[in-house]
Amino acid sequence: MTDVRTGTKSQWQPKRVFIRTYGCQMNVYDSDRMADVLRPLGYALSQSPEQADLVVLNTCHIRERASEKVYSELGRLRDLKLERRRDGADLTIAVAGCVAQAEGEEIVQRQPAVDIVVGPQAYHRLPELLARVVRKSDERRFDGRRRPGAGVLDTDFPAESKFDHLPAPSEADVRAGSAFLSIQEGCDKFCTFCVVPYTRGAEYSRPATAVLQEARGLVAAGAIELTLLGQNVNAYHGEAADGSTWGLARLIREIAGIEGLVRIRYTTSHPRDMDDDLIAAHGEVPQLMPYLHLPVQSGSDRILEAMNRSHGRDHFRRLVDRLRVVRPDLALSSDFIVGFPGETDADFDDPASPRPTPSSTAAGRARRGRCWATSSTRTSRQRVLPRCSPCSERSSARSTTPRSAPSCRCCSPRPAASRDRCWARVRGCSPSTSRAMPA
Ligand code: SF4
Repeated sequence: MTDVRTGTKSQWQPKRVFIRTYGCQMNVYDSDRMADVLRPLGYALSQSPEQADLVVLNTCHIRERASEKVYSELGRLRDLKLERRRDGADLTIAVAGCVAQAEGEEIVQRQPAVDIVVGPQAYHRLPELLARVVRKSDERRFDGRRRPGAGVLDTDFPAESKFDHLPAPSEADVRAGSAFLSIQEGCDKFCTFCVVPYTRGAEYSRPATAVLQEARGLVAAGAIELTLLGQNVNAYHGEAADGSTWGLARLIREIAGIEGLVRIRYTTSHPRDMDDDLIAAHGEVPQLMPYLHLPVQSGSDRILEAMNRSHGRDHFRRLVDRLRVVRPDLALSSDFIVGFPGETDADFDDPASPRPTPSSTAAGRARRGRCWATSSTRTSRQRVLPRCSPCSERSSARSTTPRSAPSCRCCSPRPAASRDRCWARVRGCSPSTSRAMPA
């Protein structure tokens, strides 16, 4: 336990961290890496907040009412913190991930028990943030009060890549022979329903040499299966040692050469970025599993256009045909959004859309979508981000340098209140968000 007066740890007691992960595999990877960053400080993983000195909520902003769920969890943690303080100890509370990025200072304003708010691109700085919390608690003990907004914030999109500051992977990053490996983050596609470009920043690919080094480290730590992760993973375009740029197919071929690696997967992909080489790799690389998650989101060209998806249903169908030519046993899963603002029964009943049955409301279509679904995510409501002209005019040029925040006026990170004014609702859409897998 931490001494609340001195902020120091008793020598004979190990420190423990409990990390609660919400959302996708990218967050699972980030949580593992946070644990890696904290391990040199003496933090071992705890199975519950009650046994922890530090609790990290690694949040996801895709699901409906994501931030409200976080605040409700924070209320429970505040009670635990108060209980600790009555016993003369303390509990440090950190909010990480996409809600931290989107809500920023509002989190400590609404829940002053929060000590740290850290965005998904800055969690490698957790040790420094914890030290700042101890310094702040030293200052606080002179007036004994905790003021709203007194937490430590880091929601920057730092110029340096967090990956350059993370420790080498260890056995703790491998579960049952399987490990995640993040190779790409952020997105420049600005689908109108998605928060990723705002919370994770512009598209960024890790250098190929760094990815290969981490892949070898994970295999050495016991992984026989690697899942390559990215919000738009098949947009990968990492710089190689010779200065050339590798796409995802080239990277997969190189990773497949690591001795002891049996299976490779990747997720999540965008139909626009399935290039010829990647399709060919599905037929040529034995370690690449015959499975692909390829979100289509809608079977209606009109709705795909409204979503700013940059592909049509015929493009998607041709893609699937080509994949099946090189890999006939390929298993496919997808995501569909049902009840997108403006969607009619005719859009939904389009032959390429989820199976048609009678219904006249978006909610009814959503219910039918859920019944039809097996591996797909279907949603009935989502916050719609209107395409502002600076966004729609963004260059498609890809960056191999560390990402930056969206730079146009409409897309700059901003406090939630002003952001909501900017992210206008369209066609009667609810302002709440629902899960829609990136890409
Ligand atoms: S849905 Fe995928 S492709 Fe579209 S903006 Fe989100 S991450 Fe990018």
